[in-house]
Amino acid sequence: MTGSKIKTYWQNYIDGAWRDAADGGRIAIENPATAETIAEVARGGRADVDAAVAAARARFMARTLIDMRPMARGRLLLEIGRHMEALADEIALVECLDNGKTLAAARNEAMAASRYFTYYGGATDKLEGRMIPLGAGYVDYTVPAPFGVSAQVVPWNFPLQIAARSVACALATGNCVVLKSPELSPLSCYYIAEACARAGVPPGAVNILCGYGHDCGAWLVAHPDIDHIVFTGSVRTGQSILRAAAERVIPCVMELGGKSAGIVFPDADLDQVTASTAAGIFSNAGQVCSAQSRLIVHRKVHDQVIERIRAKAASLSIGPGIEGKDLGPLISAGQLDKVEGYCLAAGQQGATAVTGGRRVDGARGHFMQPTVFAGVMPDMTIAREEVFGPVLAVQAFDEPEEAIELANGTEYGLCAGVYTKDLRTAHWAADRLVAGQVFVNEWFAGGVETPFGGTKRSGYGREKGQEALLNYVQTKNVGIRLDAGAGGRPGG
Ligand code: NAD
Repeated sequence: MTGSKIKTYWQNYIDGAWRDAADGGRIAIENPATAETIAEVARGGRADVDAAVAAARARFMARTLIDMRPMARGRLLLEIGRHMEALADEIALVECLDNGKTLAAARNEAMAASRYFTYYGGATDKLEGRMIPLGAGYVDYTVPAPFGVSAQVVPWNFPLQIAARSVACALATGNCVVLKSPELSPLSCYYIAEACARAGVPPGAVNILCGYGHDCGAWLVAHPDIDHIVFTGSVRTGQSILRAAAERVIPCVMELGGKSAGIVFPDADLDQVTASTAAGIFSNAGQVCSAQSRLIVHRKVHDQVIERIRAKAASLSIGPGIEGKDLGPLISAGQLDKVEGYCLAAGQQGATAVTGGRRVDGARGHFMQPTVFAGVMPDMTIAREEVFGPVLAVQAFDEPEEAIELANGTEYGLCAGVYTKDLRTAHWAADRLVAGQVFVNEWFAGGVETPFGGTKRSGYGREKGQEALLNYVQTKNVGIRLDAGAGGRPGG
């Protein structure tokens, strides 16, 4: 790799080897900032999924990861993390060109991915069962046992970070993995395979392949030889995966969409609200499941907040991430059409665009203006549906209960936020918000260590933090009758 040029053909990683697709198919990969093809990847299909699942199954049955001392398994994960970190600059460039992220954001992705491996590397020897007293003559204990082959499907918005959090957790708990990377932005996921190869992860323990969702993805999640599914993506795809899982009674972790709201109480620090809101809705060009896509503002400070956020949005530079701009492109022409369509509908339904509302005219790539809508009513589409772009919907409230009702008033329940200087108000609101994660005074407060996941249609199960480990194991109880004699007294 030289300058801003990257490798032009990427193979799948199956059973510890880099491979073409069985049928020789390829998928062209576009740079969303220029709409130019920058690379091709092998297009995984059924035969490739079968090979990957067979490799993962064989490795699991060989008990290689399970029989290791937990400390040694942890060291393996630490090694993967070390290699990811060493590759961070290269990953950042690739991710910037493939996904459209700014270079700084892409580097953060690589560092976060590395950190998932080191975080869960430190957890392998702390996964403990418990002893259950059954009285004299018995010993009973529980074991956190891995499921087996974990099938993982990730979306394009944070492919590396999302893949890393699921792969790391699966390996830490002794599972083997087949991961399907997203066809729109697959390249960074290959670095997990590269880091695993460099770290000496046994062949078959981690398999990474790209392919289309309706084909490669659908076959993977319905495969008769998988034991566990981790899916991150849209509600619609999640529902179809759940139907496949139901056929075989496979446990799932579902990380789906969101329409998360921050509530601004009148005593909030408005500088903090502005900075946090800009990060919450404009980072990654708003293509974030946990984006703060709604702001519910007390009428006393409503106009001030609107003006501050409008000014902040208007000040953002837009352009290719590689040029160090604030706001990169959306992932595809289709995504740009969709986001602009939501903005047109918002205007038609009576909301007011105080800034933005349209694509950036004349750009080669898929650039959307940072957008703020005021006068948003709860029944408008822009208040209910996930836009997945840099578009903020602002709603006003008078009474605290009304703010909670508005915030909880969608089918989603991923994140929520509260801006206030009063701890009582923060606790009161956090108690009533229906969401997997509540941020107070800073959207995205937290990181690798903090459990993340949804309620309602945002899904179930938790990723990140120690809680995630519980989604990758099933409790096995072992009950032992020690001796037929009273009290288990040893014989002579
Ligand atoms: P998507 O559902 O279209 O695709 C996600 C992945 O599923 C892709 O890899 C795709 O190829 C695959 N897929 C598609 N159809 C499939 C099928 N029938 N069977 C198996 N796999 C299939 O979602 P997207 O557009 O890539 O991502 C955006 C969505 O993801 C948004 O709704 C966003 O909120 C959500 N998301 C959620 C989280 C979270 O952690 N909760 C994180 C990021 C993104």
